[in-house]
Amino acid sequence: MKVIVLGSSHGGYEAVRQILMDAPDTEIQWYEKGDFISFLSCGMQLYLEGVVKHVNDVSYAKPDQARKDGVDVFVKQEITAINPADHTVHVVNHNDGSERDESYDKLIMSPGAVPADLPVDGEGLDNIYKMRGRDWAIKLKEKTVDPSVKDVVVIGSGYIGIEAAEVFAKAGMHVSIVEFNERLLGLYLDQEFTDTLTQVMKAHNVDFYGSQAVSAYKGENGKVTAAVTSKGVELPADLVVEAAGIRPNTKWLDGVVELDDHGLVKVNDANQTSEPDIYAVGDATLVPFAPTGGKSRIALATNARRQGRNAAMNALGQKHAMVPVSGSSALSVFDYKFASTGLKEGTAGKFGVKTMSTVVKDTFRPPFVPDAAGNAEVLFKLTYDPESHVVLGGQVMSTQDATQNMNVISLAIQAKMTVEDLAYADFFFQPGFDRPWNVVNVAAQQALEDLK
Ligand code: FAD
Repeated sequence: MKVIVLGSSHGGYEAVRQILMDAPDTEIQWYEKGDFISFLSCGMQLYLEGVVKHVNDVSYAKPDQARKDGVDVFVKQEITAINPADHTVHVVNHNDGSERDESYDKLIMSPGAVPADLPVDGEGLDNIYKMRGRDWAIKLKEKTVDPSVKDVVVIGSGYIGIEAAEVFAKAGMHVSIVEFNERLLGLYLDQEFTDTLTQVMKAHNVDFYGSQAVSAYKGENGKVTAAVTSKGVELPADLVVEAAGIRPNTKWLDGVVELDDHGLVKVNDANQTSEPDIYAVGDATLVPFAPTGGKSRIALATNARRQGRNAAMNALGQKHAMVPVSGSSALSVFDYKFASTGLKEGTAGKFGVKTMSTVVKDTFRPPFVPDAAGNAEVLFKLTYDPESHVVLGGQVMSTQDATQNMNVISLAIQAKMTVEDLAYADFFFQPGFDRPWNVVNVAAQQALEDLK
């Protein structure tokens, strides 16, 4: 069998790995249109802050290793068209300009997404950047040490915008964030958490402008000098980083496989498209969403990886369904570390789900452990169905790392566990690590009181 894998990021990488594990004799052709295999945007902040020294280290696959494993790796070679009827793809080789057709038995696509362009005046000015992929990483890195950059405006306060803001604030620049929603990180955290984080940002020279969109950029000599918001606020800008959403890279697939109204490739639980021998995964698709049982758009590497494995298993003839996910994610904001999963009070309405939540504050370890020894406060929120008590989501934040608790909540959502199940669930205790009752127990026990 011959499988063609399109895209070398998370989804494509995992598809290749799964085929190598399950059917190493498969002929695999792996295509990447860019000049680098498997750049990890998730690690970009670590590179921009100098923790990882070289941009090429922000990767997890080396073409030479894949070739040793028997994979035909094609870098700077783009699949520009697909003909499902005769099972061929058209390839443009950007190394030498040549073109050719290749046949496949199965095609697994992880074409990903690109940062959204904002349709505002001045969008074409210089020094308006995006934050995704290796090329932007290199350009952003130059700006972190450019003495002419004093004011940075970040558009969007999802986790990418927050990472950009933190990078440039740590580099000594003043940062303004413009956000359409009222609160920063509003899709990830409820207000109890974001109020604190907004103050933390402010203390680090990051100002937040919520409930407004960017409406225009001003410039001089072709370079951006300011961003103007829909509330008429003019923010000085030597650099703008746009992190206001993504667009699936699927226009070229229109008419090949079925797309939805947002241009996402329609897939079933096997990650199969409307063409039975073509599979699609990653940011260009929807994922099954565990808290609601429906589908949701959650652009995360974790999802792309699971889908890549799932598509490969099904392409090899194994019957496997994509595991429902809950959008679990974690991030640090200066000294704070937070994680969340599933539904929040702020997002439940969008899904038409009735929720109830319990918030608890606790210390990380028993009260007798001094703060200096690592005993910070933990803020924890558990969200559940008020009728069935089924767990629907969670959020946690501390200056200590309590984020792994969200993996517990994610698992509880996947297993459709209830508040009762979590209240007395068995979690370890050792004063070096936590309290006699883990914070998940504490929140669930409090939830039972709240439900009385
Ligand atoms: P992409 O990563 O978009 O990759 C698609 C690849 O396919 C690209 O390399 C592209 O060049 C190639 N390609 C496209 N079309 C063709 C074609 N026709 N022919 C050949 N090649 C083609 N997620 C997390 O889970 N955790 C994190 O901490 C996290 N941090 C992030 C930080 C940043 C700054 C960004 C931007 C994203 C982050 N994400 C994170 C999200 C994560 O990076 C994406 O969800 C993930 O990259 C999606 O993988 P993908 O395979 O769908 O597509």
